[in-house]
Amino acid sequence: MRCPSAVICHFFIPMSTQKHAFQAEVAQLLHLVTHSLYSHPEIFLRELISNASDACDKLRFEALADASLYGDQPALEIRIAIDKDARTITVTDTGIGMSEAEAVEHLGTIAKSGTREFMSKLSGDQKADAQLIGQFGVGFYSGFIVAERITVESRRAGLPPESSVCWRSTGAGDFEVEAITRAERGTSVTLHLREDALEFADDWRIRELIGKYSEHIALPIKMEGQKWEESKQEGQPGRMVKTGEWETVNQATALWTRPKKDITDEQYTQFYEQTTRDWQPPLAWTHNRVEGSAEYTQLLYLPAHAPMDLWEREHKSGVKLYVRRVFIMEDAEQLLPRYLRFVKGVVDSADLPLNVSRELLQQSRDVRAIRDGNTRRILGLLEELAKETGPTADKADDDKASGDKPIAPSDKYATFWREFGAVLKEGLGDDHANRDRIAGLLRYASTQSDAPAVSLADYKARMKDGQKAIYYLTADTLAGARSSPQLEIFRKKGIEVLLMTDRVDEWALSHLHEFDGTPLQSVAKGAVDLGELQDEAEKQALEAAAEHIKPLLEKLKTALKDQAEDVRVTTRLVDSPACLVAKDADMSLQLARLLKQAGQPVPDVKPVLEINPEHPLVKKLDGSPHFDDLARILFDQALLAEGGLPDDPAAYVRRVNALLV
Ligand code: ADP
Repeated sequence: MRCPSAVICHFFIPMSTQKHAFQAEVAQLLHLVTHSLYSHPEIFLRELISNASDACDKLRFEALADASLYGDQPALEIRIAIDKDARTITVTDTGIGMSEAEAVEHLGTIAKSGTREFMSKLSGDQKADAQLIGQFGVGFYSGFIVAERITVESRRAGLPPESSVCWRSTGAGDFEVEAITRAERGTSVTLHLREDALEFADDWRIRELIGKYSEHIALPIKMEGQKWEESKQEGQPGRMVKTGEWETVNQATALWTRPKKDITDEQYTQFYEQTTRDWQPPLAWTHNRVEGSAEYTQLLYLPAHAPMDLWEREHKSGVKLYVRRVFIMEDAEQLLPRYLRFVKGVVDSADLPLNVSRELLQQSRDVRAIRDGNTRRILGLLEELAKETGPTADKADDDKASGDKPIAPSDKYATFWREFGAVLKEGLGDDHANRDRIAGLLRYASTQSDAPAVSLADYKARMKDGQKAIYYLTADTLAGARSSPQLEIFRKKGIEVLLMTDRVDEWALSHLHEFDGTPLQSVAKGAVDLGELQDEAEKQALEAAAEHIKPLLEKLKTALKDQAEDVRVTTRLVDSPACLVAKDADMSLQLARLLKQAGQPVPDVKPVLEINPEHPLVKKLDGSPHFDDLARILFDQALLAEGGLPDDPAAYVRRVNALLV
């Protein structure tokens, strides 16, 4: 039996109707969606169109392997019908459709663990919150913002008409499904509008929203044509009537196939927002037709903010693959290296076969050429942004739906770096061929700059006469880095040190040994050799002190033989009595700690304790009756200052207290 709307179904109550409770998360989410997003009800249309478009993409993809899925209906399209009298709006697509089991699963549960995260991200600012919904795979439920009831009819491609399904719900607690017969492949979602949402039963309002949100969906979106009809009775006003013909109301062309000069910045931005479901205009884009050994078009965007799942292993790449304008697949991760996984956009290849699979992509030489080309373009775009010039997207429109203030060109690279810098750094280890270009894009905080804005080139330009290395320090936090004893001598000499606080820094820097001919040197590793920056008198004083202090060093070595690899005198300290450093060839203490926290095996290397012979505490050590305790305290304090924890914190406290008393 057909189920054109739930009204009719009520009369039948057939035996096959089954009630299902929503999964707890869905119920919770529905409550949230309807209560927190009601001031932006219109987003439902964007979400339903986007689902319809995804469904068509899925069919196109499955049909590459089995063309019979199209049946006798090759057209892929979206139709939107409004029935003013019945107060309904119906979004129909000729896409993949759902079987009964799929309807129960997809429209009754949320697969991803995204709900909790979605809820935790809600800010109370409805405008911002409304943008989150599409990113969490919960868009369908936004229909309940405007509908008191939703009816979905669907027939899975490849299944016969009698194996179709009707799904109904009022959005409160449960839903029903029932087997129906449906002539057409695909899905119709009918919203029974609430009293306060009748504005959406208006043809012009819907056309306006399609223009705003779905202009660049690459499928035709059709609505029934209308025409003005004069009244047959004299003196009565005329009215709009439906012509019975479907007309396409969006552009439905693939933007990237048009010549660059014909596309405005606003169109580029709109295309981005509509195809990525990102609500913020992109920072910049690059659009090129490449003709060479591989022939393809690329339209790649740099987003202005990081998605929630950027660091998750299953993070999807944002580049869609088309072959001669036919959509092939989402998140084609072969098209960009992982360290550029924040890039979004489209690649349209002229060479690949239409039935290309993910496995094939991995082996294809064409794909490798595309990947190299994409990488070069993105690095070039970043270099341009870093120079604050070039064809960037700085003409963002103020009164757009997003409403976000456009980012000034000079802030763009800073924005990029804040959002994605830590990801780009992975490239130092992963992309040897482009390592130098990536190194040029790095930015760090330093002892002379709070903002992470110092490039290696800036640093080099400021190096002191006689300085032979680029010095850096890694730590958990910027504050921790700044107060590290290891910096004391550098501060005294006015030598800049780069301060690094990303977890990836240590690993990334282990792949970058020099920049433009100058070695990079961790200040927490090996003996400090400031070379020509240290004057003769200082060197001699150190040697004299070392000689004088030799017996003390021997005693310390014995007292700390389980903790320290060696104990030696240093000039790197000014105000602190001691510090810990790693031997040159060893892993830094910071990296060892990070690995340990991550549960990874760490070689058991002991640090070197360096002491400041001029410090009163060190002077007091010799001949003290508490020598062993003082030695342990000296060591544990050096560990604390460097961001570590004593092996036995309670024993440390006991020792300090004993001395205090
Ligand atoms: P998302 O689309 O982000 O996954 P939704 O809540 O919007 O999340 O939809 C849930 C699921 O329901 C979709 O993943 C899809 O499997 C199914 N679905 C929704 N709309 C359609 C449609 N028009 N055709 C086929 N399947 C659909």
